[in-house]
Amino acid sequence: MIELRTPAEIEQMRPVGRFVAETLQALKREVTVGMNLLHIDKRAHELIRRAGAESCYIDYAPSFGSGPFGHVICTSVNESVLHGMPFDYALKDGDLLTLDFAVSLNGWVADSAISFVVGTPRAEDLALIDTTERALAAGIAAAQPGGKVGDISAAIAKVARADGLKINTDFGGHGVGRTMHGDPHIPNAGRAGRGFPLKPGLVIAIEPWFLQSTDELITEQRDGWTLSSADGSRGAHSEHTIAITEDGPIILTQA
Ligand code: MG
Ligand code: MG
Repeated sequence: MIELRTPAEIEQMRPVGRFVAETLQALKREVTVGMNLLHIDKRAHELIRRAGAESCYIDYAPSFGSGPFGHVICTSVNESVLHGMPFDYALKDGDLLTLDFAVSLNGWVADSAISFVVGTPRAEDLALIDTTERALAAGIAAAQPGGKVGDISAAIAKVARADGLKINTDFGGHGVGRTMHGDPHIPNAGRAGRGFPLKPGLVIAIEPWFLQSTDELITEQRDGWTLSSADGSRGAHSEHTIAITEDGPIILTQA
């Protein structure tokens, strides 16, 4: 079911959006070479508690994961790109890290993800992150009232294909509201002018993610959750929760 939010409800969603954005930026500032992924999870948990927020991940147990997630943030490193379960791993110089974070605060959810390099970056990693961020910006710009979900999908895909990337549409954006995942699904490729109408009041997460040289994922056996590229190439992911209004899209997950 697709739910539309009133302007007043969209205003109520701003604090959770701001908290998610500020937490991701704070963690990005704190992350250093040598930091353990479990420490990042612990820090995120502290910030959640301090804010009186609630994790959307800790008890999350969908069909594609193995049991409850048990952590409050996804930390996907290098060839891992989605649902990276924090584990006992110390970040190395040049690692490409994706943090994906969703919480509920005062009954509303926000969901956002960022990718960045820890320490000395490789040019190809910065290029992949840049493509992902530009695809997100293009997707948001296409999220106009009167349009269709396919407009967002097509805008994302155009950026990725121009940079020679393949697109996997198994995981993409989604409705956001009282819970983390709702309708409609927002695939990272599709045809403009097709799909669900973008109406004022629709709140969605848009989340392009790409791999350097494949569109095939494998599930890491160590946890049954972390999704990595089938060929070992690296991945990046960029996500915002936005609200579509009469005047266009508003990014909720910004500080
Ligand atoms: Mg997310
Ligand atoms: Mg999401």
